Amino acid sequence: MQYFSLNKNAPRVSFEQAVVLGLAPDRGLYFPESITPLPHSFFQNIENLTQEEIAFEAIKQFVGDEIPEAELKRIIAETLCFDFPCVTVEKDVFSLELFHGPTMAFKDVGARFMSRCLGYFNRNDDKKVTVLVATSGDTGGAVASGFLEVKGVEVIILYPSGKVSEIQERQLTTLGKNIKALEVDGVFDDCQDMVKQAFLDHTLNHKNLTSANSINIARWLPQMFYIFFAYQQLKKYDKPIILSCPSGNFGNICAGIMAKRLGLPIAHFVASTNANDTVPRFLEAGNYEPKPSIATISNAMDVGNPSNFIRIQELYHYDLSEFEKDFSSYSFTDAETEIAIKDIYNRTQYIAEPHGAVGYLGLKKEMAKQPKSIGVFLETAHPIKFLDVVEPLLGLKLPIPTQIENVLGKEKVSTKIKTYEDLKAFLQ
Ligand SMILES: *Cc1c(COP(=O)(O)O)cnc(C)c1O
Repeated sequence: MQYFSLNKNAPRVSFEQAVVLGLAPDRGLYFPESITPLPHSFFQNIENLTQEEIAFEAIKQFVGDEIPEAELKRIIAETLCFDFPCVTVEKDVFSLELFHGPTMAFKDVGARFMSRCLGYFNRNDDKKVTVLVATSGDTGGAVASGFLEVKGVEVIILYPSGKVSEIQERQLTTLGKNIKALEVDGVFDDCQDMVKQAFLDHTLNHKNLTSANSINIARWLPQMFYIFFAYQQLKKYDKPIILSCPSGNFGNICAGIMAKRLGLPIAHFVASTNANDTVPRFLEAGNYEPKPSIATISNAMDVGNPSNFIRIQELYHYDLSEFEKDFSSYSFTDAETEIAIKDIYNRTQYIAEPHGAVGYLGLKKEMAKQPKSIGVFLETAHPIKFLDVVEPLLGLKLPIPTQIENVLGKEKVSTKIKTYEDLKAFLQ
């Protein structure tokens, strides 16, 4: 499979090159040259397939012959090392729980898949890469865990000192081996700026720097897997399915739309956002006007200019009328989100964290317009990761899951840095 840059000003590349580069030289996102739907029989028979078989069918055309079948199957098996249950919350409303992985965030899936692809490409020890990521919390932990001990990959995570939760900090700083944590004297934007500067710095070309966020196709495309798993579990209800994704960089919802292009019967998409409402405003007004991000309680979605939105536009052929057929986007305030967390718990005993609650709100809004449908929202993180919001709202103490308990007992190791020169010195 060949990939082209959505900025249309860079050469086409292979799957391997797209994964290793992350972003095209013209700063555009890579996009597959063709998308071939899966046969009808695949969807008719989906309940009889294992999750690994489904994932293999979903991804194989995008990898092509660049990873042999047996290797790709191994990568998928190692990626899908946990469950993806679709839990009934109330009548016709389901939560697709994506938080049963090693760091209790959906990003575990993409991080595990991408790291193992890079490991395969470096199998002869000749293509070492350095993954450089800035994190405001969740991404870093998933990347650290997903890339741990992957051959030929060094991971450097920049995080703002004192601005991530204790659990998040431990997830970043206690693994050791090929994972290095840099504690930046500054805020998240400072971390992000340093990473961007490093990518543009030609004196660092020899380090083969790459990113591990959803701009990378090997992190984004495997996010289709669990949308297929949701369908597999909901097919028996035989009703149109509405999928609501709590959205920040719009990677999940974009993966859902890709899955539909492969033939997956999702009737309608809802991109649910917090106060960072660039996309809902776009659908209302027709023009795309990004804004600086606003801090909210669903902070993993505090994104003012969602990077995957350009891929979504490509999937809808840059045509607003095509969008409107099966795509909605709604924004919710923190106050609405808090009320939803309490209301869901009081009525159903289900504990949602702020991102899932935003997804739930968007789903309910769309279901009111389409009452014959069933709906599923993504629960993108475990409530324990947002315990400072959830516990006081619900007046309860959440038990600490073993994955989290394990990191809390380990010793933090990090290097403090302040400027880009410090980062550069560390890299060289
Ligand atoms: C990253 C993240 C999101 C946003 O997902 P996108 O695919 O970027 O839209 C939502 N919730 C949680 C908990 C996250 O960590």
